[in-house]
Amino acid sequence: MLIDRFGRSIEYLRISVTDRCNFRCIYCESRGPLQRLSARDILTYEEILEIVETAVGLGVKRVRITGGEPLFRRNIEDLIEKLSSIEGLCDLSLTTNGYLLLEKAEVLKKSGLKRLNVSLDTMDPKKFAKLTGGFDFKKVWDGLLLAEKLGFTPLKINVVVIKGVNDDEILDLAKLTLEHPWEIRFIEYMPIGNSGRWKREDVIWIEEVKGTVEKLYPLRPSSSIGGGPAKVFQWMGAIGKIGFISPLSEHFCSSCNRLRITADGKLRACLFSDQEIDLKAYLREKKGSLEEAFSLALKVKPEVRNLQATRRAMRAIGG
Ligand code: SAM
Ligand code: SF4
Repeated sequence: MLIDRFGRSIEYLRISVTDRCNFRCIYCESRGPLQRLSARDILTYEEILEIVETAVGLGVKRVRITGGEPLFRRNIEDLIEKLSSIEGLCDLSLTTNGYLLLEKAEVLKKSGLKRLNVSLDTMDPKKFAKLTGGFDFKKVWDGLLLAEKLGFTPLKINVVVIKGVNDDEILDLAKLTLEHPWEIRFIEYMPIGNSGRWKREDVIWIEEVKGTVEKLYPLRPSSSIGGGPAKVFQWMGAIGKIGFISPLSEHFCSSCNRLRITADGKLRACLFSDQEIDLKAYLREKKGSLEEAFSLALKVKPEVRNLQATRRAMRAIGG
């Protein structure tokens, strides 16, 4: 079992499979020119498999594939297929911007993926293009409908709420739960990666978002497959759910059960801490066993996050 110094049992691994992304979301960019990892720096699928097999042997039960944009990495379905056959791995999911879902949803389903999180901050095509760097809302929307049809359940939609950008759409996005069995998750805008742009005044605190949502109809508590930090509710009569995630206003460090792996193979014990363990040194230079690397991560996992610490962009850490 992976238990850290503060008694937290680590069961969840988030793995970034690429630092690349087609989108340029305004809240995800880092300051200055993009620094790209070279192909050699990135973990191979074989290395990711070895890491996950070791982690599952140590007690990890859930894995999320993320990025950058994971569907942007070539033949991602091959990795999904191999991961989904690892015995003891109870939950395999993937977070995507949805742009390639029309092409990839079916093959992902066939390769054994059960759950998808899709990021969608607005339903206004013009705003969508502005937020993402010129991309087509309709393509993501059609991809979402296809994913629903193919039975990806629960389909979770991540919405980062930013003042003056999409706070006027909170109700419209929440209303999607009246017609779709989706979980719309509102997330506080975090000071990560985009240090030049983030401003405290632009954050809409999650209590305010929840207040807006429950002004329309009362919310009753609900639950969510896959757990996680979202507090989940439902409007009476809705078929979907509404989640609220408050990484800033209310940290969930005491129940944090996760480790992260960046695309270049750095094991991060905390989203907000730049203390990293280089798994490539363990895999390629035989610095020691992967078990030793995981046990080191348990030792450096902080009790509580430090919001000021992060130097990497979200796309490089893996969200
Ligand atoms: N490209 C995929 C996507 O957009 O879903 C996966 C990677 S992305 C880094 C993972 C999640 O991080 C997305 O839901 C995105 O909205 C979120 N994210 C990125 N920057 C953020 C920020 N500054 N504050 C809050 N969430 C952020
Ligand atoms: Fe790409 Fe996701 Fe970051 Fe947007 S949030 S730029 S889609 S990695």
